Amino acid sequence: MIIVMQLGATDQQVNAVAQILKDHGVEPLILPGEDRVAIGIPQSLTPDQRENIESALARAEGISKISQTSRPYKLASLEFQRARTTVNVKGVSIGGDSFTVMAGPCSIESYEQLARTAEIVQKAGATVLRGGAFKPRTSPYSFQGLAEEGLKIMQRVGNETGLATITEVMSPDAVDMVASYVDILQIGARSMQNYPLLIKAGESQKPVFLKRGPSATIDEFLLAAEYLLSKGNRNIILCERGIVSIDRSYTRNTLDLASVPVLKNYSHLPVFVDPSHGTGVAKYVPPMAKAAVVAGADGLMIEVHPNPDEALSDGSQALLPKQFELLMQDLRQLAEICDRKMAAAVSR
Ligand code: PEP
Ligand code: MN
Repeated sequence: MIIVMQLGATDQQVNAVAQILKDHGVEPLILPGEDRVAIGIPQSLTPDQRENIESALARAEGISKISQTSRPYKLASLEFQRARTTVNVKGVSIGGDSFTVMAGPCSIESYEQLARTAEIVQKAGATVLRGGAFKPRTSPYSFQGLAEEGLKIMQRVGNETGLATITEVMSPDAVDMVASYVDILQIGARSMQNYPLLIKAGESQKPVFLKRGPSATIDEFLLAAEYLLSKGNRNIILCERGIVSIDRSYTRNTLDLASVPVLKNYSHLPVFVDPSHGTGVAKYVPPMAKAAVVAGADGLMIEVHPNPDEALSDGSQALLPKQFELLMQDLRQLAEICDRKMAAAVSR
């Protein structure tokens, strides 16, 4: 439920409405708008609660209209928050009119490998360095990541380059430790419905990059974001990374690019696309990355490796340095056509 106040409603009238809600056991959310204030109720109401609140509100002053929210998520919805969220991290502005590229290897393998990759992606214009230290691998026999040792490497390379950093956290117990090393916490596709993890990451002050689960509907995805938001973390970035496919013989997942305009239509949160995990094949990454810009994405996450044949994970989908550099040139042109600002390529 959203209660929209009249233009020029007084603070007293707003407070009186908020008090009515509190008296009925509901915590009101004051939503200051450009020209008028609205008051939202994020929680679901029982039919009795709704009826009692509506009759009490009928006697209140300064209300323009009361509308029922149509979706199960509230804080993540554009109905609740009209202003689009921008996330600022280490001088990088994510969302709004920016187009941001996060790039790096699937796994952090060594200081040399990460430092070399960072140099390549920074030179091409990426502003956030990715790399996994805790890897969610399908097989327990596959490389599991360097764990805290990898985080130390990521922190060092982040400090040396000035790039913002992102890495995946897989368990609630590790949230504080991981947050002490990097700028953005990534919640992987397999963890999208790990509710204890969402709660812990929601309580942390770090921006969270939430990947869509391979079988998650849009409602489930936005409800996962709602967990983070409801715990007080407002710096949330969504990422479409492909959903389960009916045909895995050509691509790893089906990249649901239509989810980009859909998510932007229902949510104020920035939306990214990961064409690397979305396709699983390096040569399909550039076309899908370019399509993502045109679809309205706020940025991309792309896997790059100086030597993909020797990568310890996901080598087949990693772009070579040259491929990444050429892709970034194309992305820059497309971003301009789409009225998006992209960071310039830099030399160090
Ligand atoms: C990753 O980005 O390292 C990753 C494992 O991706 P996803 O969670 O989308 O599979
Ligand atoms: Mn990967």
